[in-house]
Amino acid sequence: MSVVASTAASVVAPAAPSFVGLRRVKGPGALSRDVEAHPSVTLATSVRGARASRGASSRCVATMAGTGKFVVGGNWKCNGNTASITQLVKDLNKGEIDADVDVIVAPPMLYLPKVQSTIDRQFKLSAQNCWVSEGGAFTGEVSAEMLADANVPWVILGHSERRALCGESDEFVGKKVAYAIKNGLSVMACIGETLQERESGATQDVCRRQLQAIVNELSAGDWEKVVIAYEPVWAIGTGKVATPEQAQETHAGIRAFMASAVSQDVASKVRIQYGGSVNGQLQELAKQEDIDGFLVGGASLIGDAFITICNSAKYNTY
Ligand code: PEP
Repeated sequence: MSVVASTAASVVAPAAPSFVGLRRVKGPGALSRDVEAHPSVTLATSVRGARASRGASSRCVATMAGTGKFVVGGNWKCNGNTASITQLVKDLNKGEIDADVDVIVAPPMLYLPKVQSTIDRQFKLSAQNCWVSEGGAFTGEVSAEMLADANVPWVILGHSERRALCGESDEFVGKKVAYAIKNGLSVMACIGETLQERESGATQDVCRRQLQAIVNELSAGDWEKVVIAYEPVWAIGTGKVATPEQAQETHAGIRAFMASAVSQDVASKVRIQYGGSVNGQLQELAKQEDIDGFLVGGASLIGDAFITICNSAKYNTY
């Protein structure tokens, strides 16, 4: 049964964020197709100081902002028990993160308080889901208010497993994202195409459709609280990683869509994670200019592997 959004969540728009800084984009090439499709997009194409002198003169520059800090999430899904989670937390606490990176772990709901009280502060906590509106007669759900009350600052929403297995529609996910943000949470909002959609050339359309449903519910300022996780469904848990080129191309398309659907500033600032069997090709993926982090499933259950993924942030020079 499809879950139908029945909430009338109203989004309180915070003051518009101020954007500073620069982001390089690969010349007219990376975004031109999308810019043509969205004529409202105009990219600033001036080449600026230091980067130009470092040989980037063939690239154009679009204004961007924010920290742009690499961000890695670990989605533990419905895995583990008291013993294994205790061990995983120990392994993570032992690990050395020597890159500039935001790290967020998402244990199963039941273990959030335990992890919260034992994990090092450098790891931020996330839930894997929350309800679309205020709590009440929604058996088995947890509300955004409860997460905020329990000092859980992040939530993963729109994961393909929830879309496919729990029937969450694009609109429902959009409303969930808005409600979570309204209650002070930050969101890793997942989008991505199935294998069939990729093979039929619908990847960008699917990503845009899923994002549009979120765009419809948010104000521009809300995007400060969102990380977009691009996770091709065919790469999740399959060991099949998107090539760096495939991932970069899709991320650039997502950024171009955000420029047209929200604003250039938001497009430049929003962080876009790649997710799907992240473990191999780390260096090459992290080097891509529109990849701002990873969302990791299986490998986040293995302490050292996850720490290595976090440290791949050092390959990202954007
Ligand atoms: C995920 O489900 O978010 C994910 C990326 O899983 P995996 O890393 O196991 O492919």
